[in-house]
Amino acid sequence: MTCHWEQGQLLEWSREHSRNFPWRAGWQPTIRLLIGEMMLQRLRDDKVGMHYTRFATQFYEWAAIASAELTTLQWALPNSGIWRKRAISLNYLAQQIVNGLVVDIPTVESLKELPGFSLSVARWVRVVIFGEREPFLDGETARVIGRFYNINYPHWQFEQHPALVAAAYDIVDNRACIELNCALRDLADAVCLAAQPDCAACPLRSRCALWRDEHT
Ligand code: SF4
Repeated sequence: MTCHWEQGQLLEWSREHSRNFPWRAGWQPTIRLLIGEMMLQRLRDDKVGMHYTRFATQFYEWAAIASAELTTLQWALPNSGIWRKRAISLNYLAQQIVNGLVVDIPTVESLKELPGFSLSVARWVRVVIFGEREPFLDGETARVIGRFYNINYPHWQFEQHPALVAAAYDIVDNRACIELNCALRDLADAVCLAAQPDCAACPLRSRCALWRDEHT
């Protein structure tokens, strides 16, 4: 499947409507982009700024994460069990990167084995750190893709549902992979809402399966 139309629509929409966050402004070190979007997966817009600022004032580069005391790193991240586990994984990854121990790009499967890493986080690590074209397929972006292509999936299976995963990979298969992932997240947040999608404002409307079903 080629998704040039979808990619073009998403990128054009995002230029005007995407959310502004400090980690998305201009060039940012990869660690900031990684952490900012990971935080956004679990925190509301009005909470993410405070957590991100606390992290960003202490950690600018991978070297700082690699040499950090684990407790310091954990303090700088949101206070929850999953982030305490992720701090261990980030510290490990940073040491691998800083010490030049990453010979081959790690697979999604191997990254998913790290504490606190889900499939979507593992894919995002590959995008941001290693420049691979992967979808940040979280529950929100799965909703947009599922509606657009009329893919029905059990909600607990969104990360692995074959048709959904294949469609998600196709949509972000572009050198603007990061921008496309962010555009999908923002579209899910502002337009393709869980309870009531605002299809009139959607750049994908003219080819959306759900919209077509409801208007023909
Ligand atoms: S047209 Fe509506 S249902 Fe389809 S992707 Fe856009 S907001 Fe979601």
